[in-house]
Amino acid sequence: MSKVSLSNVSKVYDDTILAVEEVDLTVEDGEFVVVVGPSGCGKSTTLRMVAGLETVSAGEISIGDTVVNDVRPQDRNIAMVFQSYALYPHMTVRENMSFGLRLAGEPAAEIEPRVEDAAEMLEISELLDDLPKQLSGGQQQRVALGRAIVRDPEVFLMDEPLSNLDAKLRTQMRTEIQRIQENLGVTTVYVTHDQTEAMTMADRIVILNDGKLQQVDPPERCYDEPNNKFVAGFIGSPSMNFFEVTVTETNSGATFESPSFEFTLDVDIPSGEYTLGVRPEDLTPDRESGYIDTVVDVVEPVGSDNFLYLKTARGSSDVVARVESEYRPEVRDEITLGFETDDMHLFDTDGARVPVNELQITDSA
Ligand code: ADP
Repeated sequence: MSKVSLSNVSKVYDDTILAVEEVDLTVEDGEFVVVVGPSGCGKSTTLRMVAGLETVSAGEISIGDTVVNDVRPQDRNIAMVFQSYALYPHMTVRENMSFGLRLAGEPAAEIEPRVEDAAEMLEISELLDDLPKQLSGGQQQRVALGRAIVRDPEVFLMDEPLSNLDAKLRTQMRTEIQRIQENLGVTTVYVTHDQTEAMTMADRIVILNDGKLQQVDPPERCYDEPNNKFVAGFIGSPSMNFFEVTVTETNSGATFESPSFEFTLDVDIPSGEYTLGVRPEDLTPDRESGYIDTVVDVVEPVGSDNFLYLKTARGSSDVVARVESEYRPEVRDEITLGFETDDMHLFDTDGARVPVNELQITDSA
């Protein structure tokens, strides 16, 4: 097993498309890192450079202590799992799983137990003599994982491996991939556009936008202390509510003004223009510190909670609140929403986080 390091790595396609820009990242030995971001942000390109399927335009990629920029993919000791299972249709599961090892000239006596072990781990032992067309999508993806596992690689690289599965199976496979990765302890880089997948699976999340690193941190940290407005809006579902506000320092705190509200909080913030962010689950109806008057537009029960889609009474901005399932207002009800000062996020006009510890909260209101 090995760590994977990217040092100042960039990728330019066709001399003009800057797909990945100066990325610095170290994935520790045995770590499970999930690279996440919107479509086109450079996730696959980053992974494919680590795999050796794309050349590196600038910077250095190392696996273990070896710089691999010029090492052929087959010599990098990595195993990839893609969204498409890419199984050979005329080969049995057993043959599909052992194919890479046979190609590498491993003796049959060594291949067989490795295939059996991996099949057991993936609970597909009884399918070993079936052909891919006899398997469900989920089973085919298990075979694709098995093929990666038997290689006993230093690094797993996974590119949206669960995207073709239905929601229930996807949730189940997430847990399984985590379990297998933990058991094997193989350094893993996993790419997805799905922030839920990133939040639930990763030791650390790598968030990319426009080819640039936005944040590299454990999931909770990305959620609680997003580096910038992009991360704040990308992580969490439903997304964080944003309000453009003018802050004015006063003797009793800071006044927040927007077309939708005006209130004063007991916090110390320099006067200026900001974006105020509050997560839907941090908005509470009818709280004394409530400052946003809204009207209910849609109530969406999701079982454990209700999502309220509201409009601000002034300014008609959209607001989403996540409330307990027992709280189920009617459409057009008027609700004042509040939040704890601890739960507010502030971003400057460049979108950078204004850290909460700089707010010097004097009274948690
Ligand atoms: P993601 O995986 O995050 O969806 P990609 O890494 O596939 O993003 O793509 C990043 C950017 O590079 C996009 O603008 C995409 O259009 C561009 N790109 C990807 N592959 C190629 C290619 N082979 N040739 C030219 N541009 C490409």
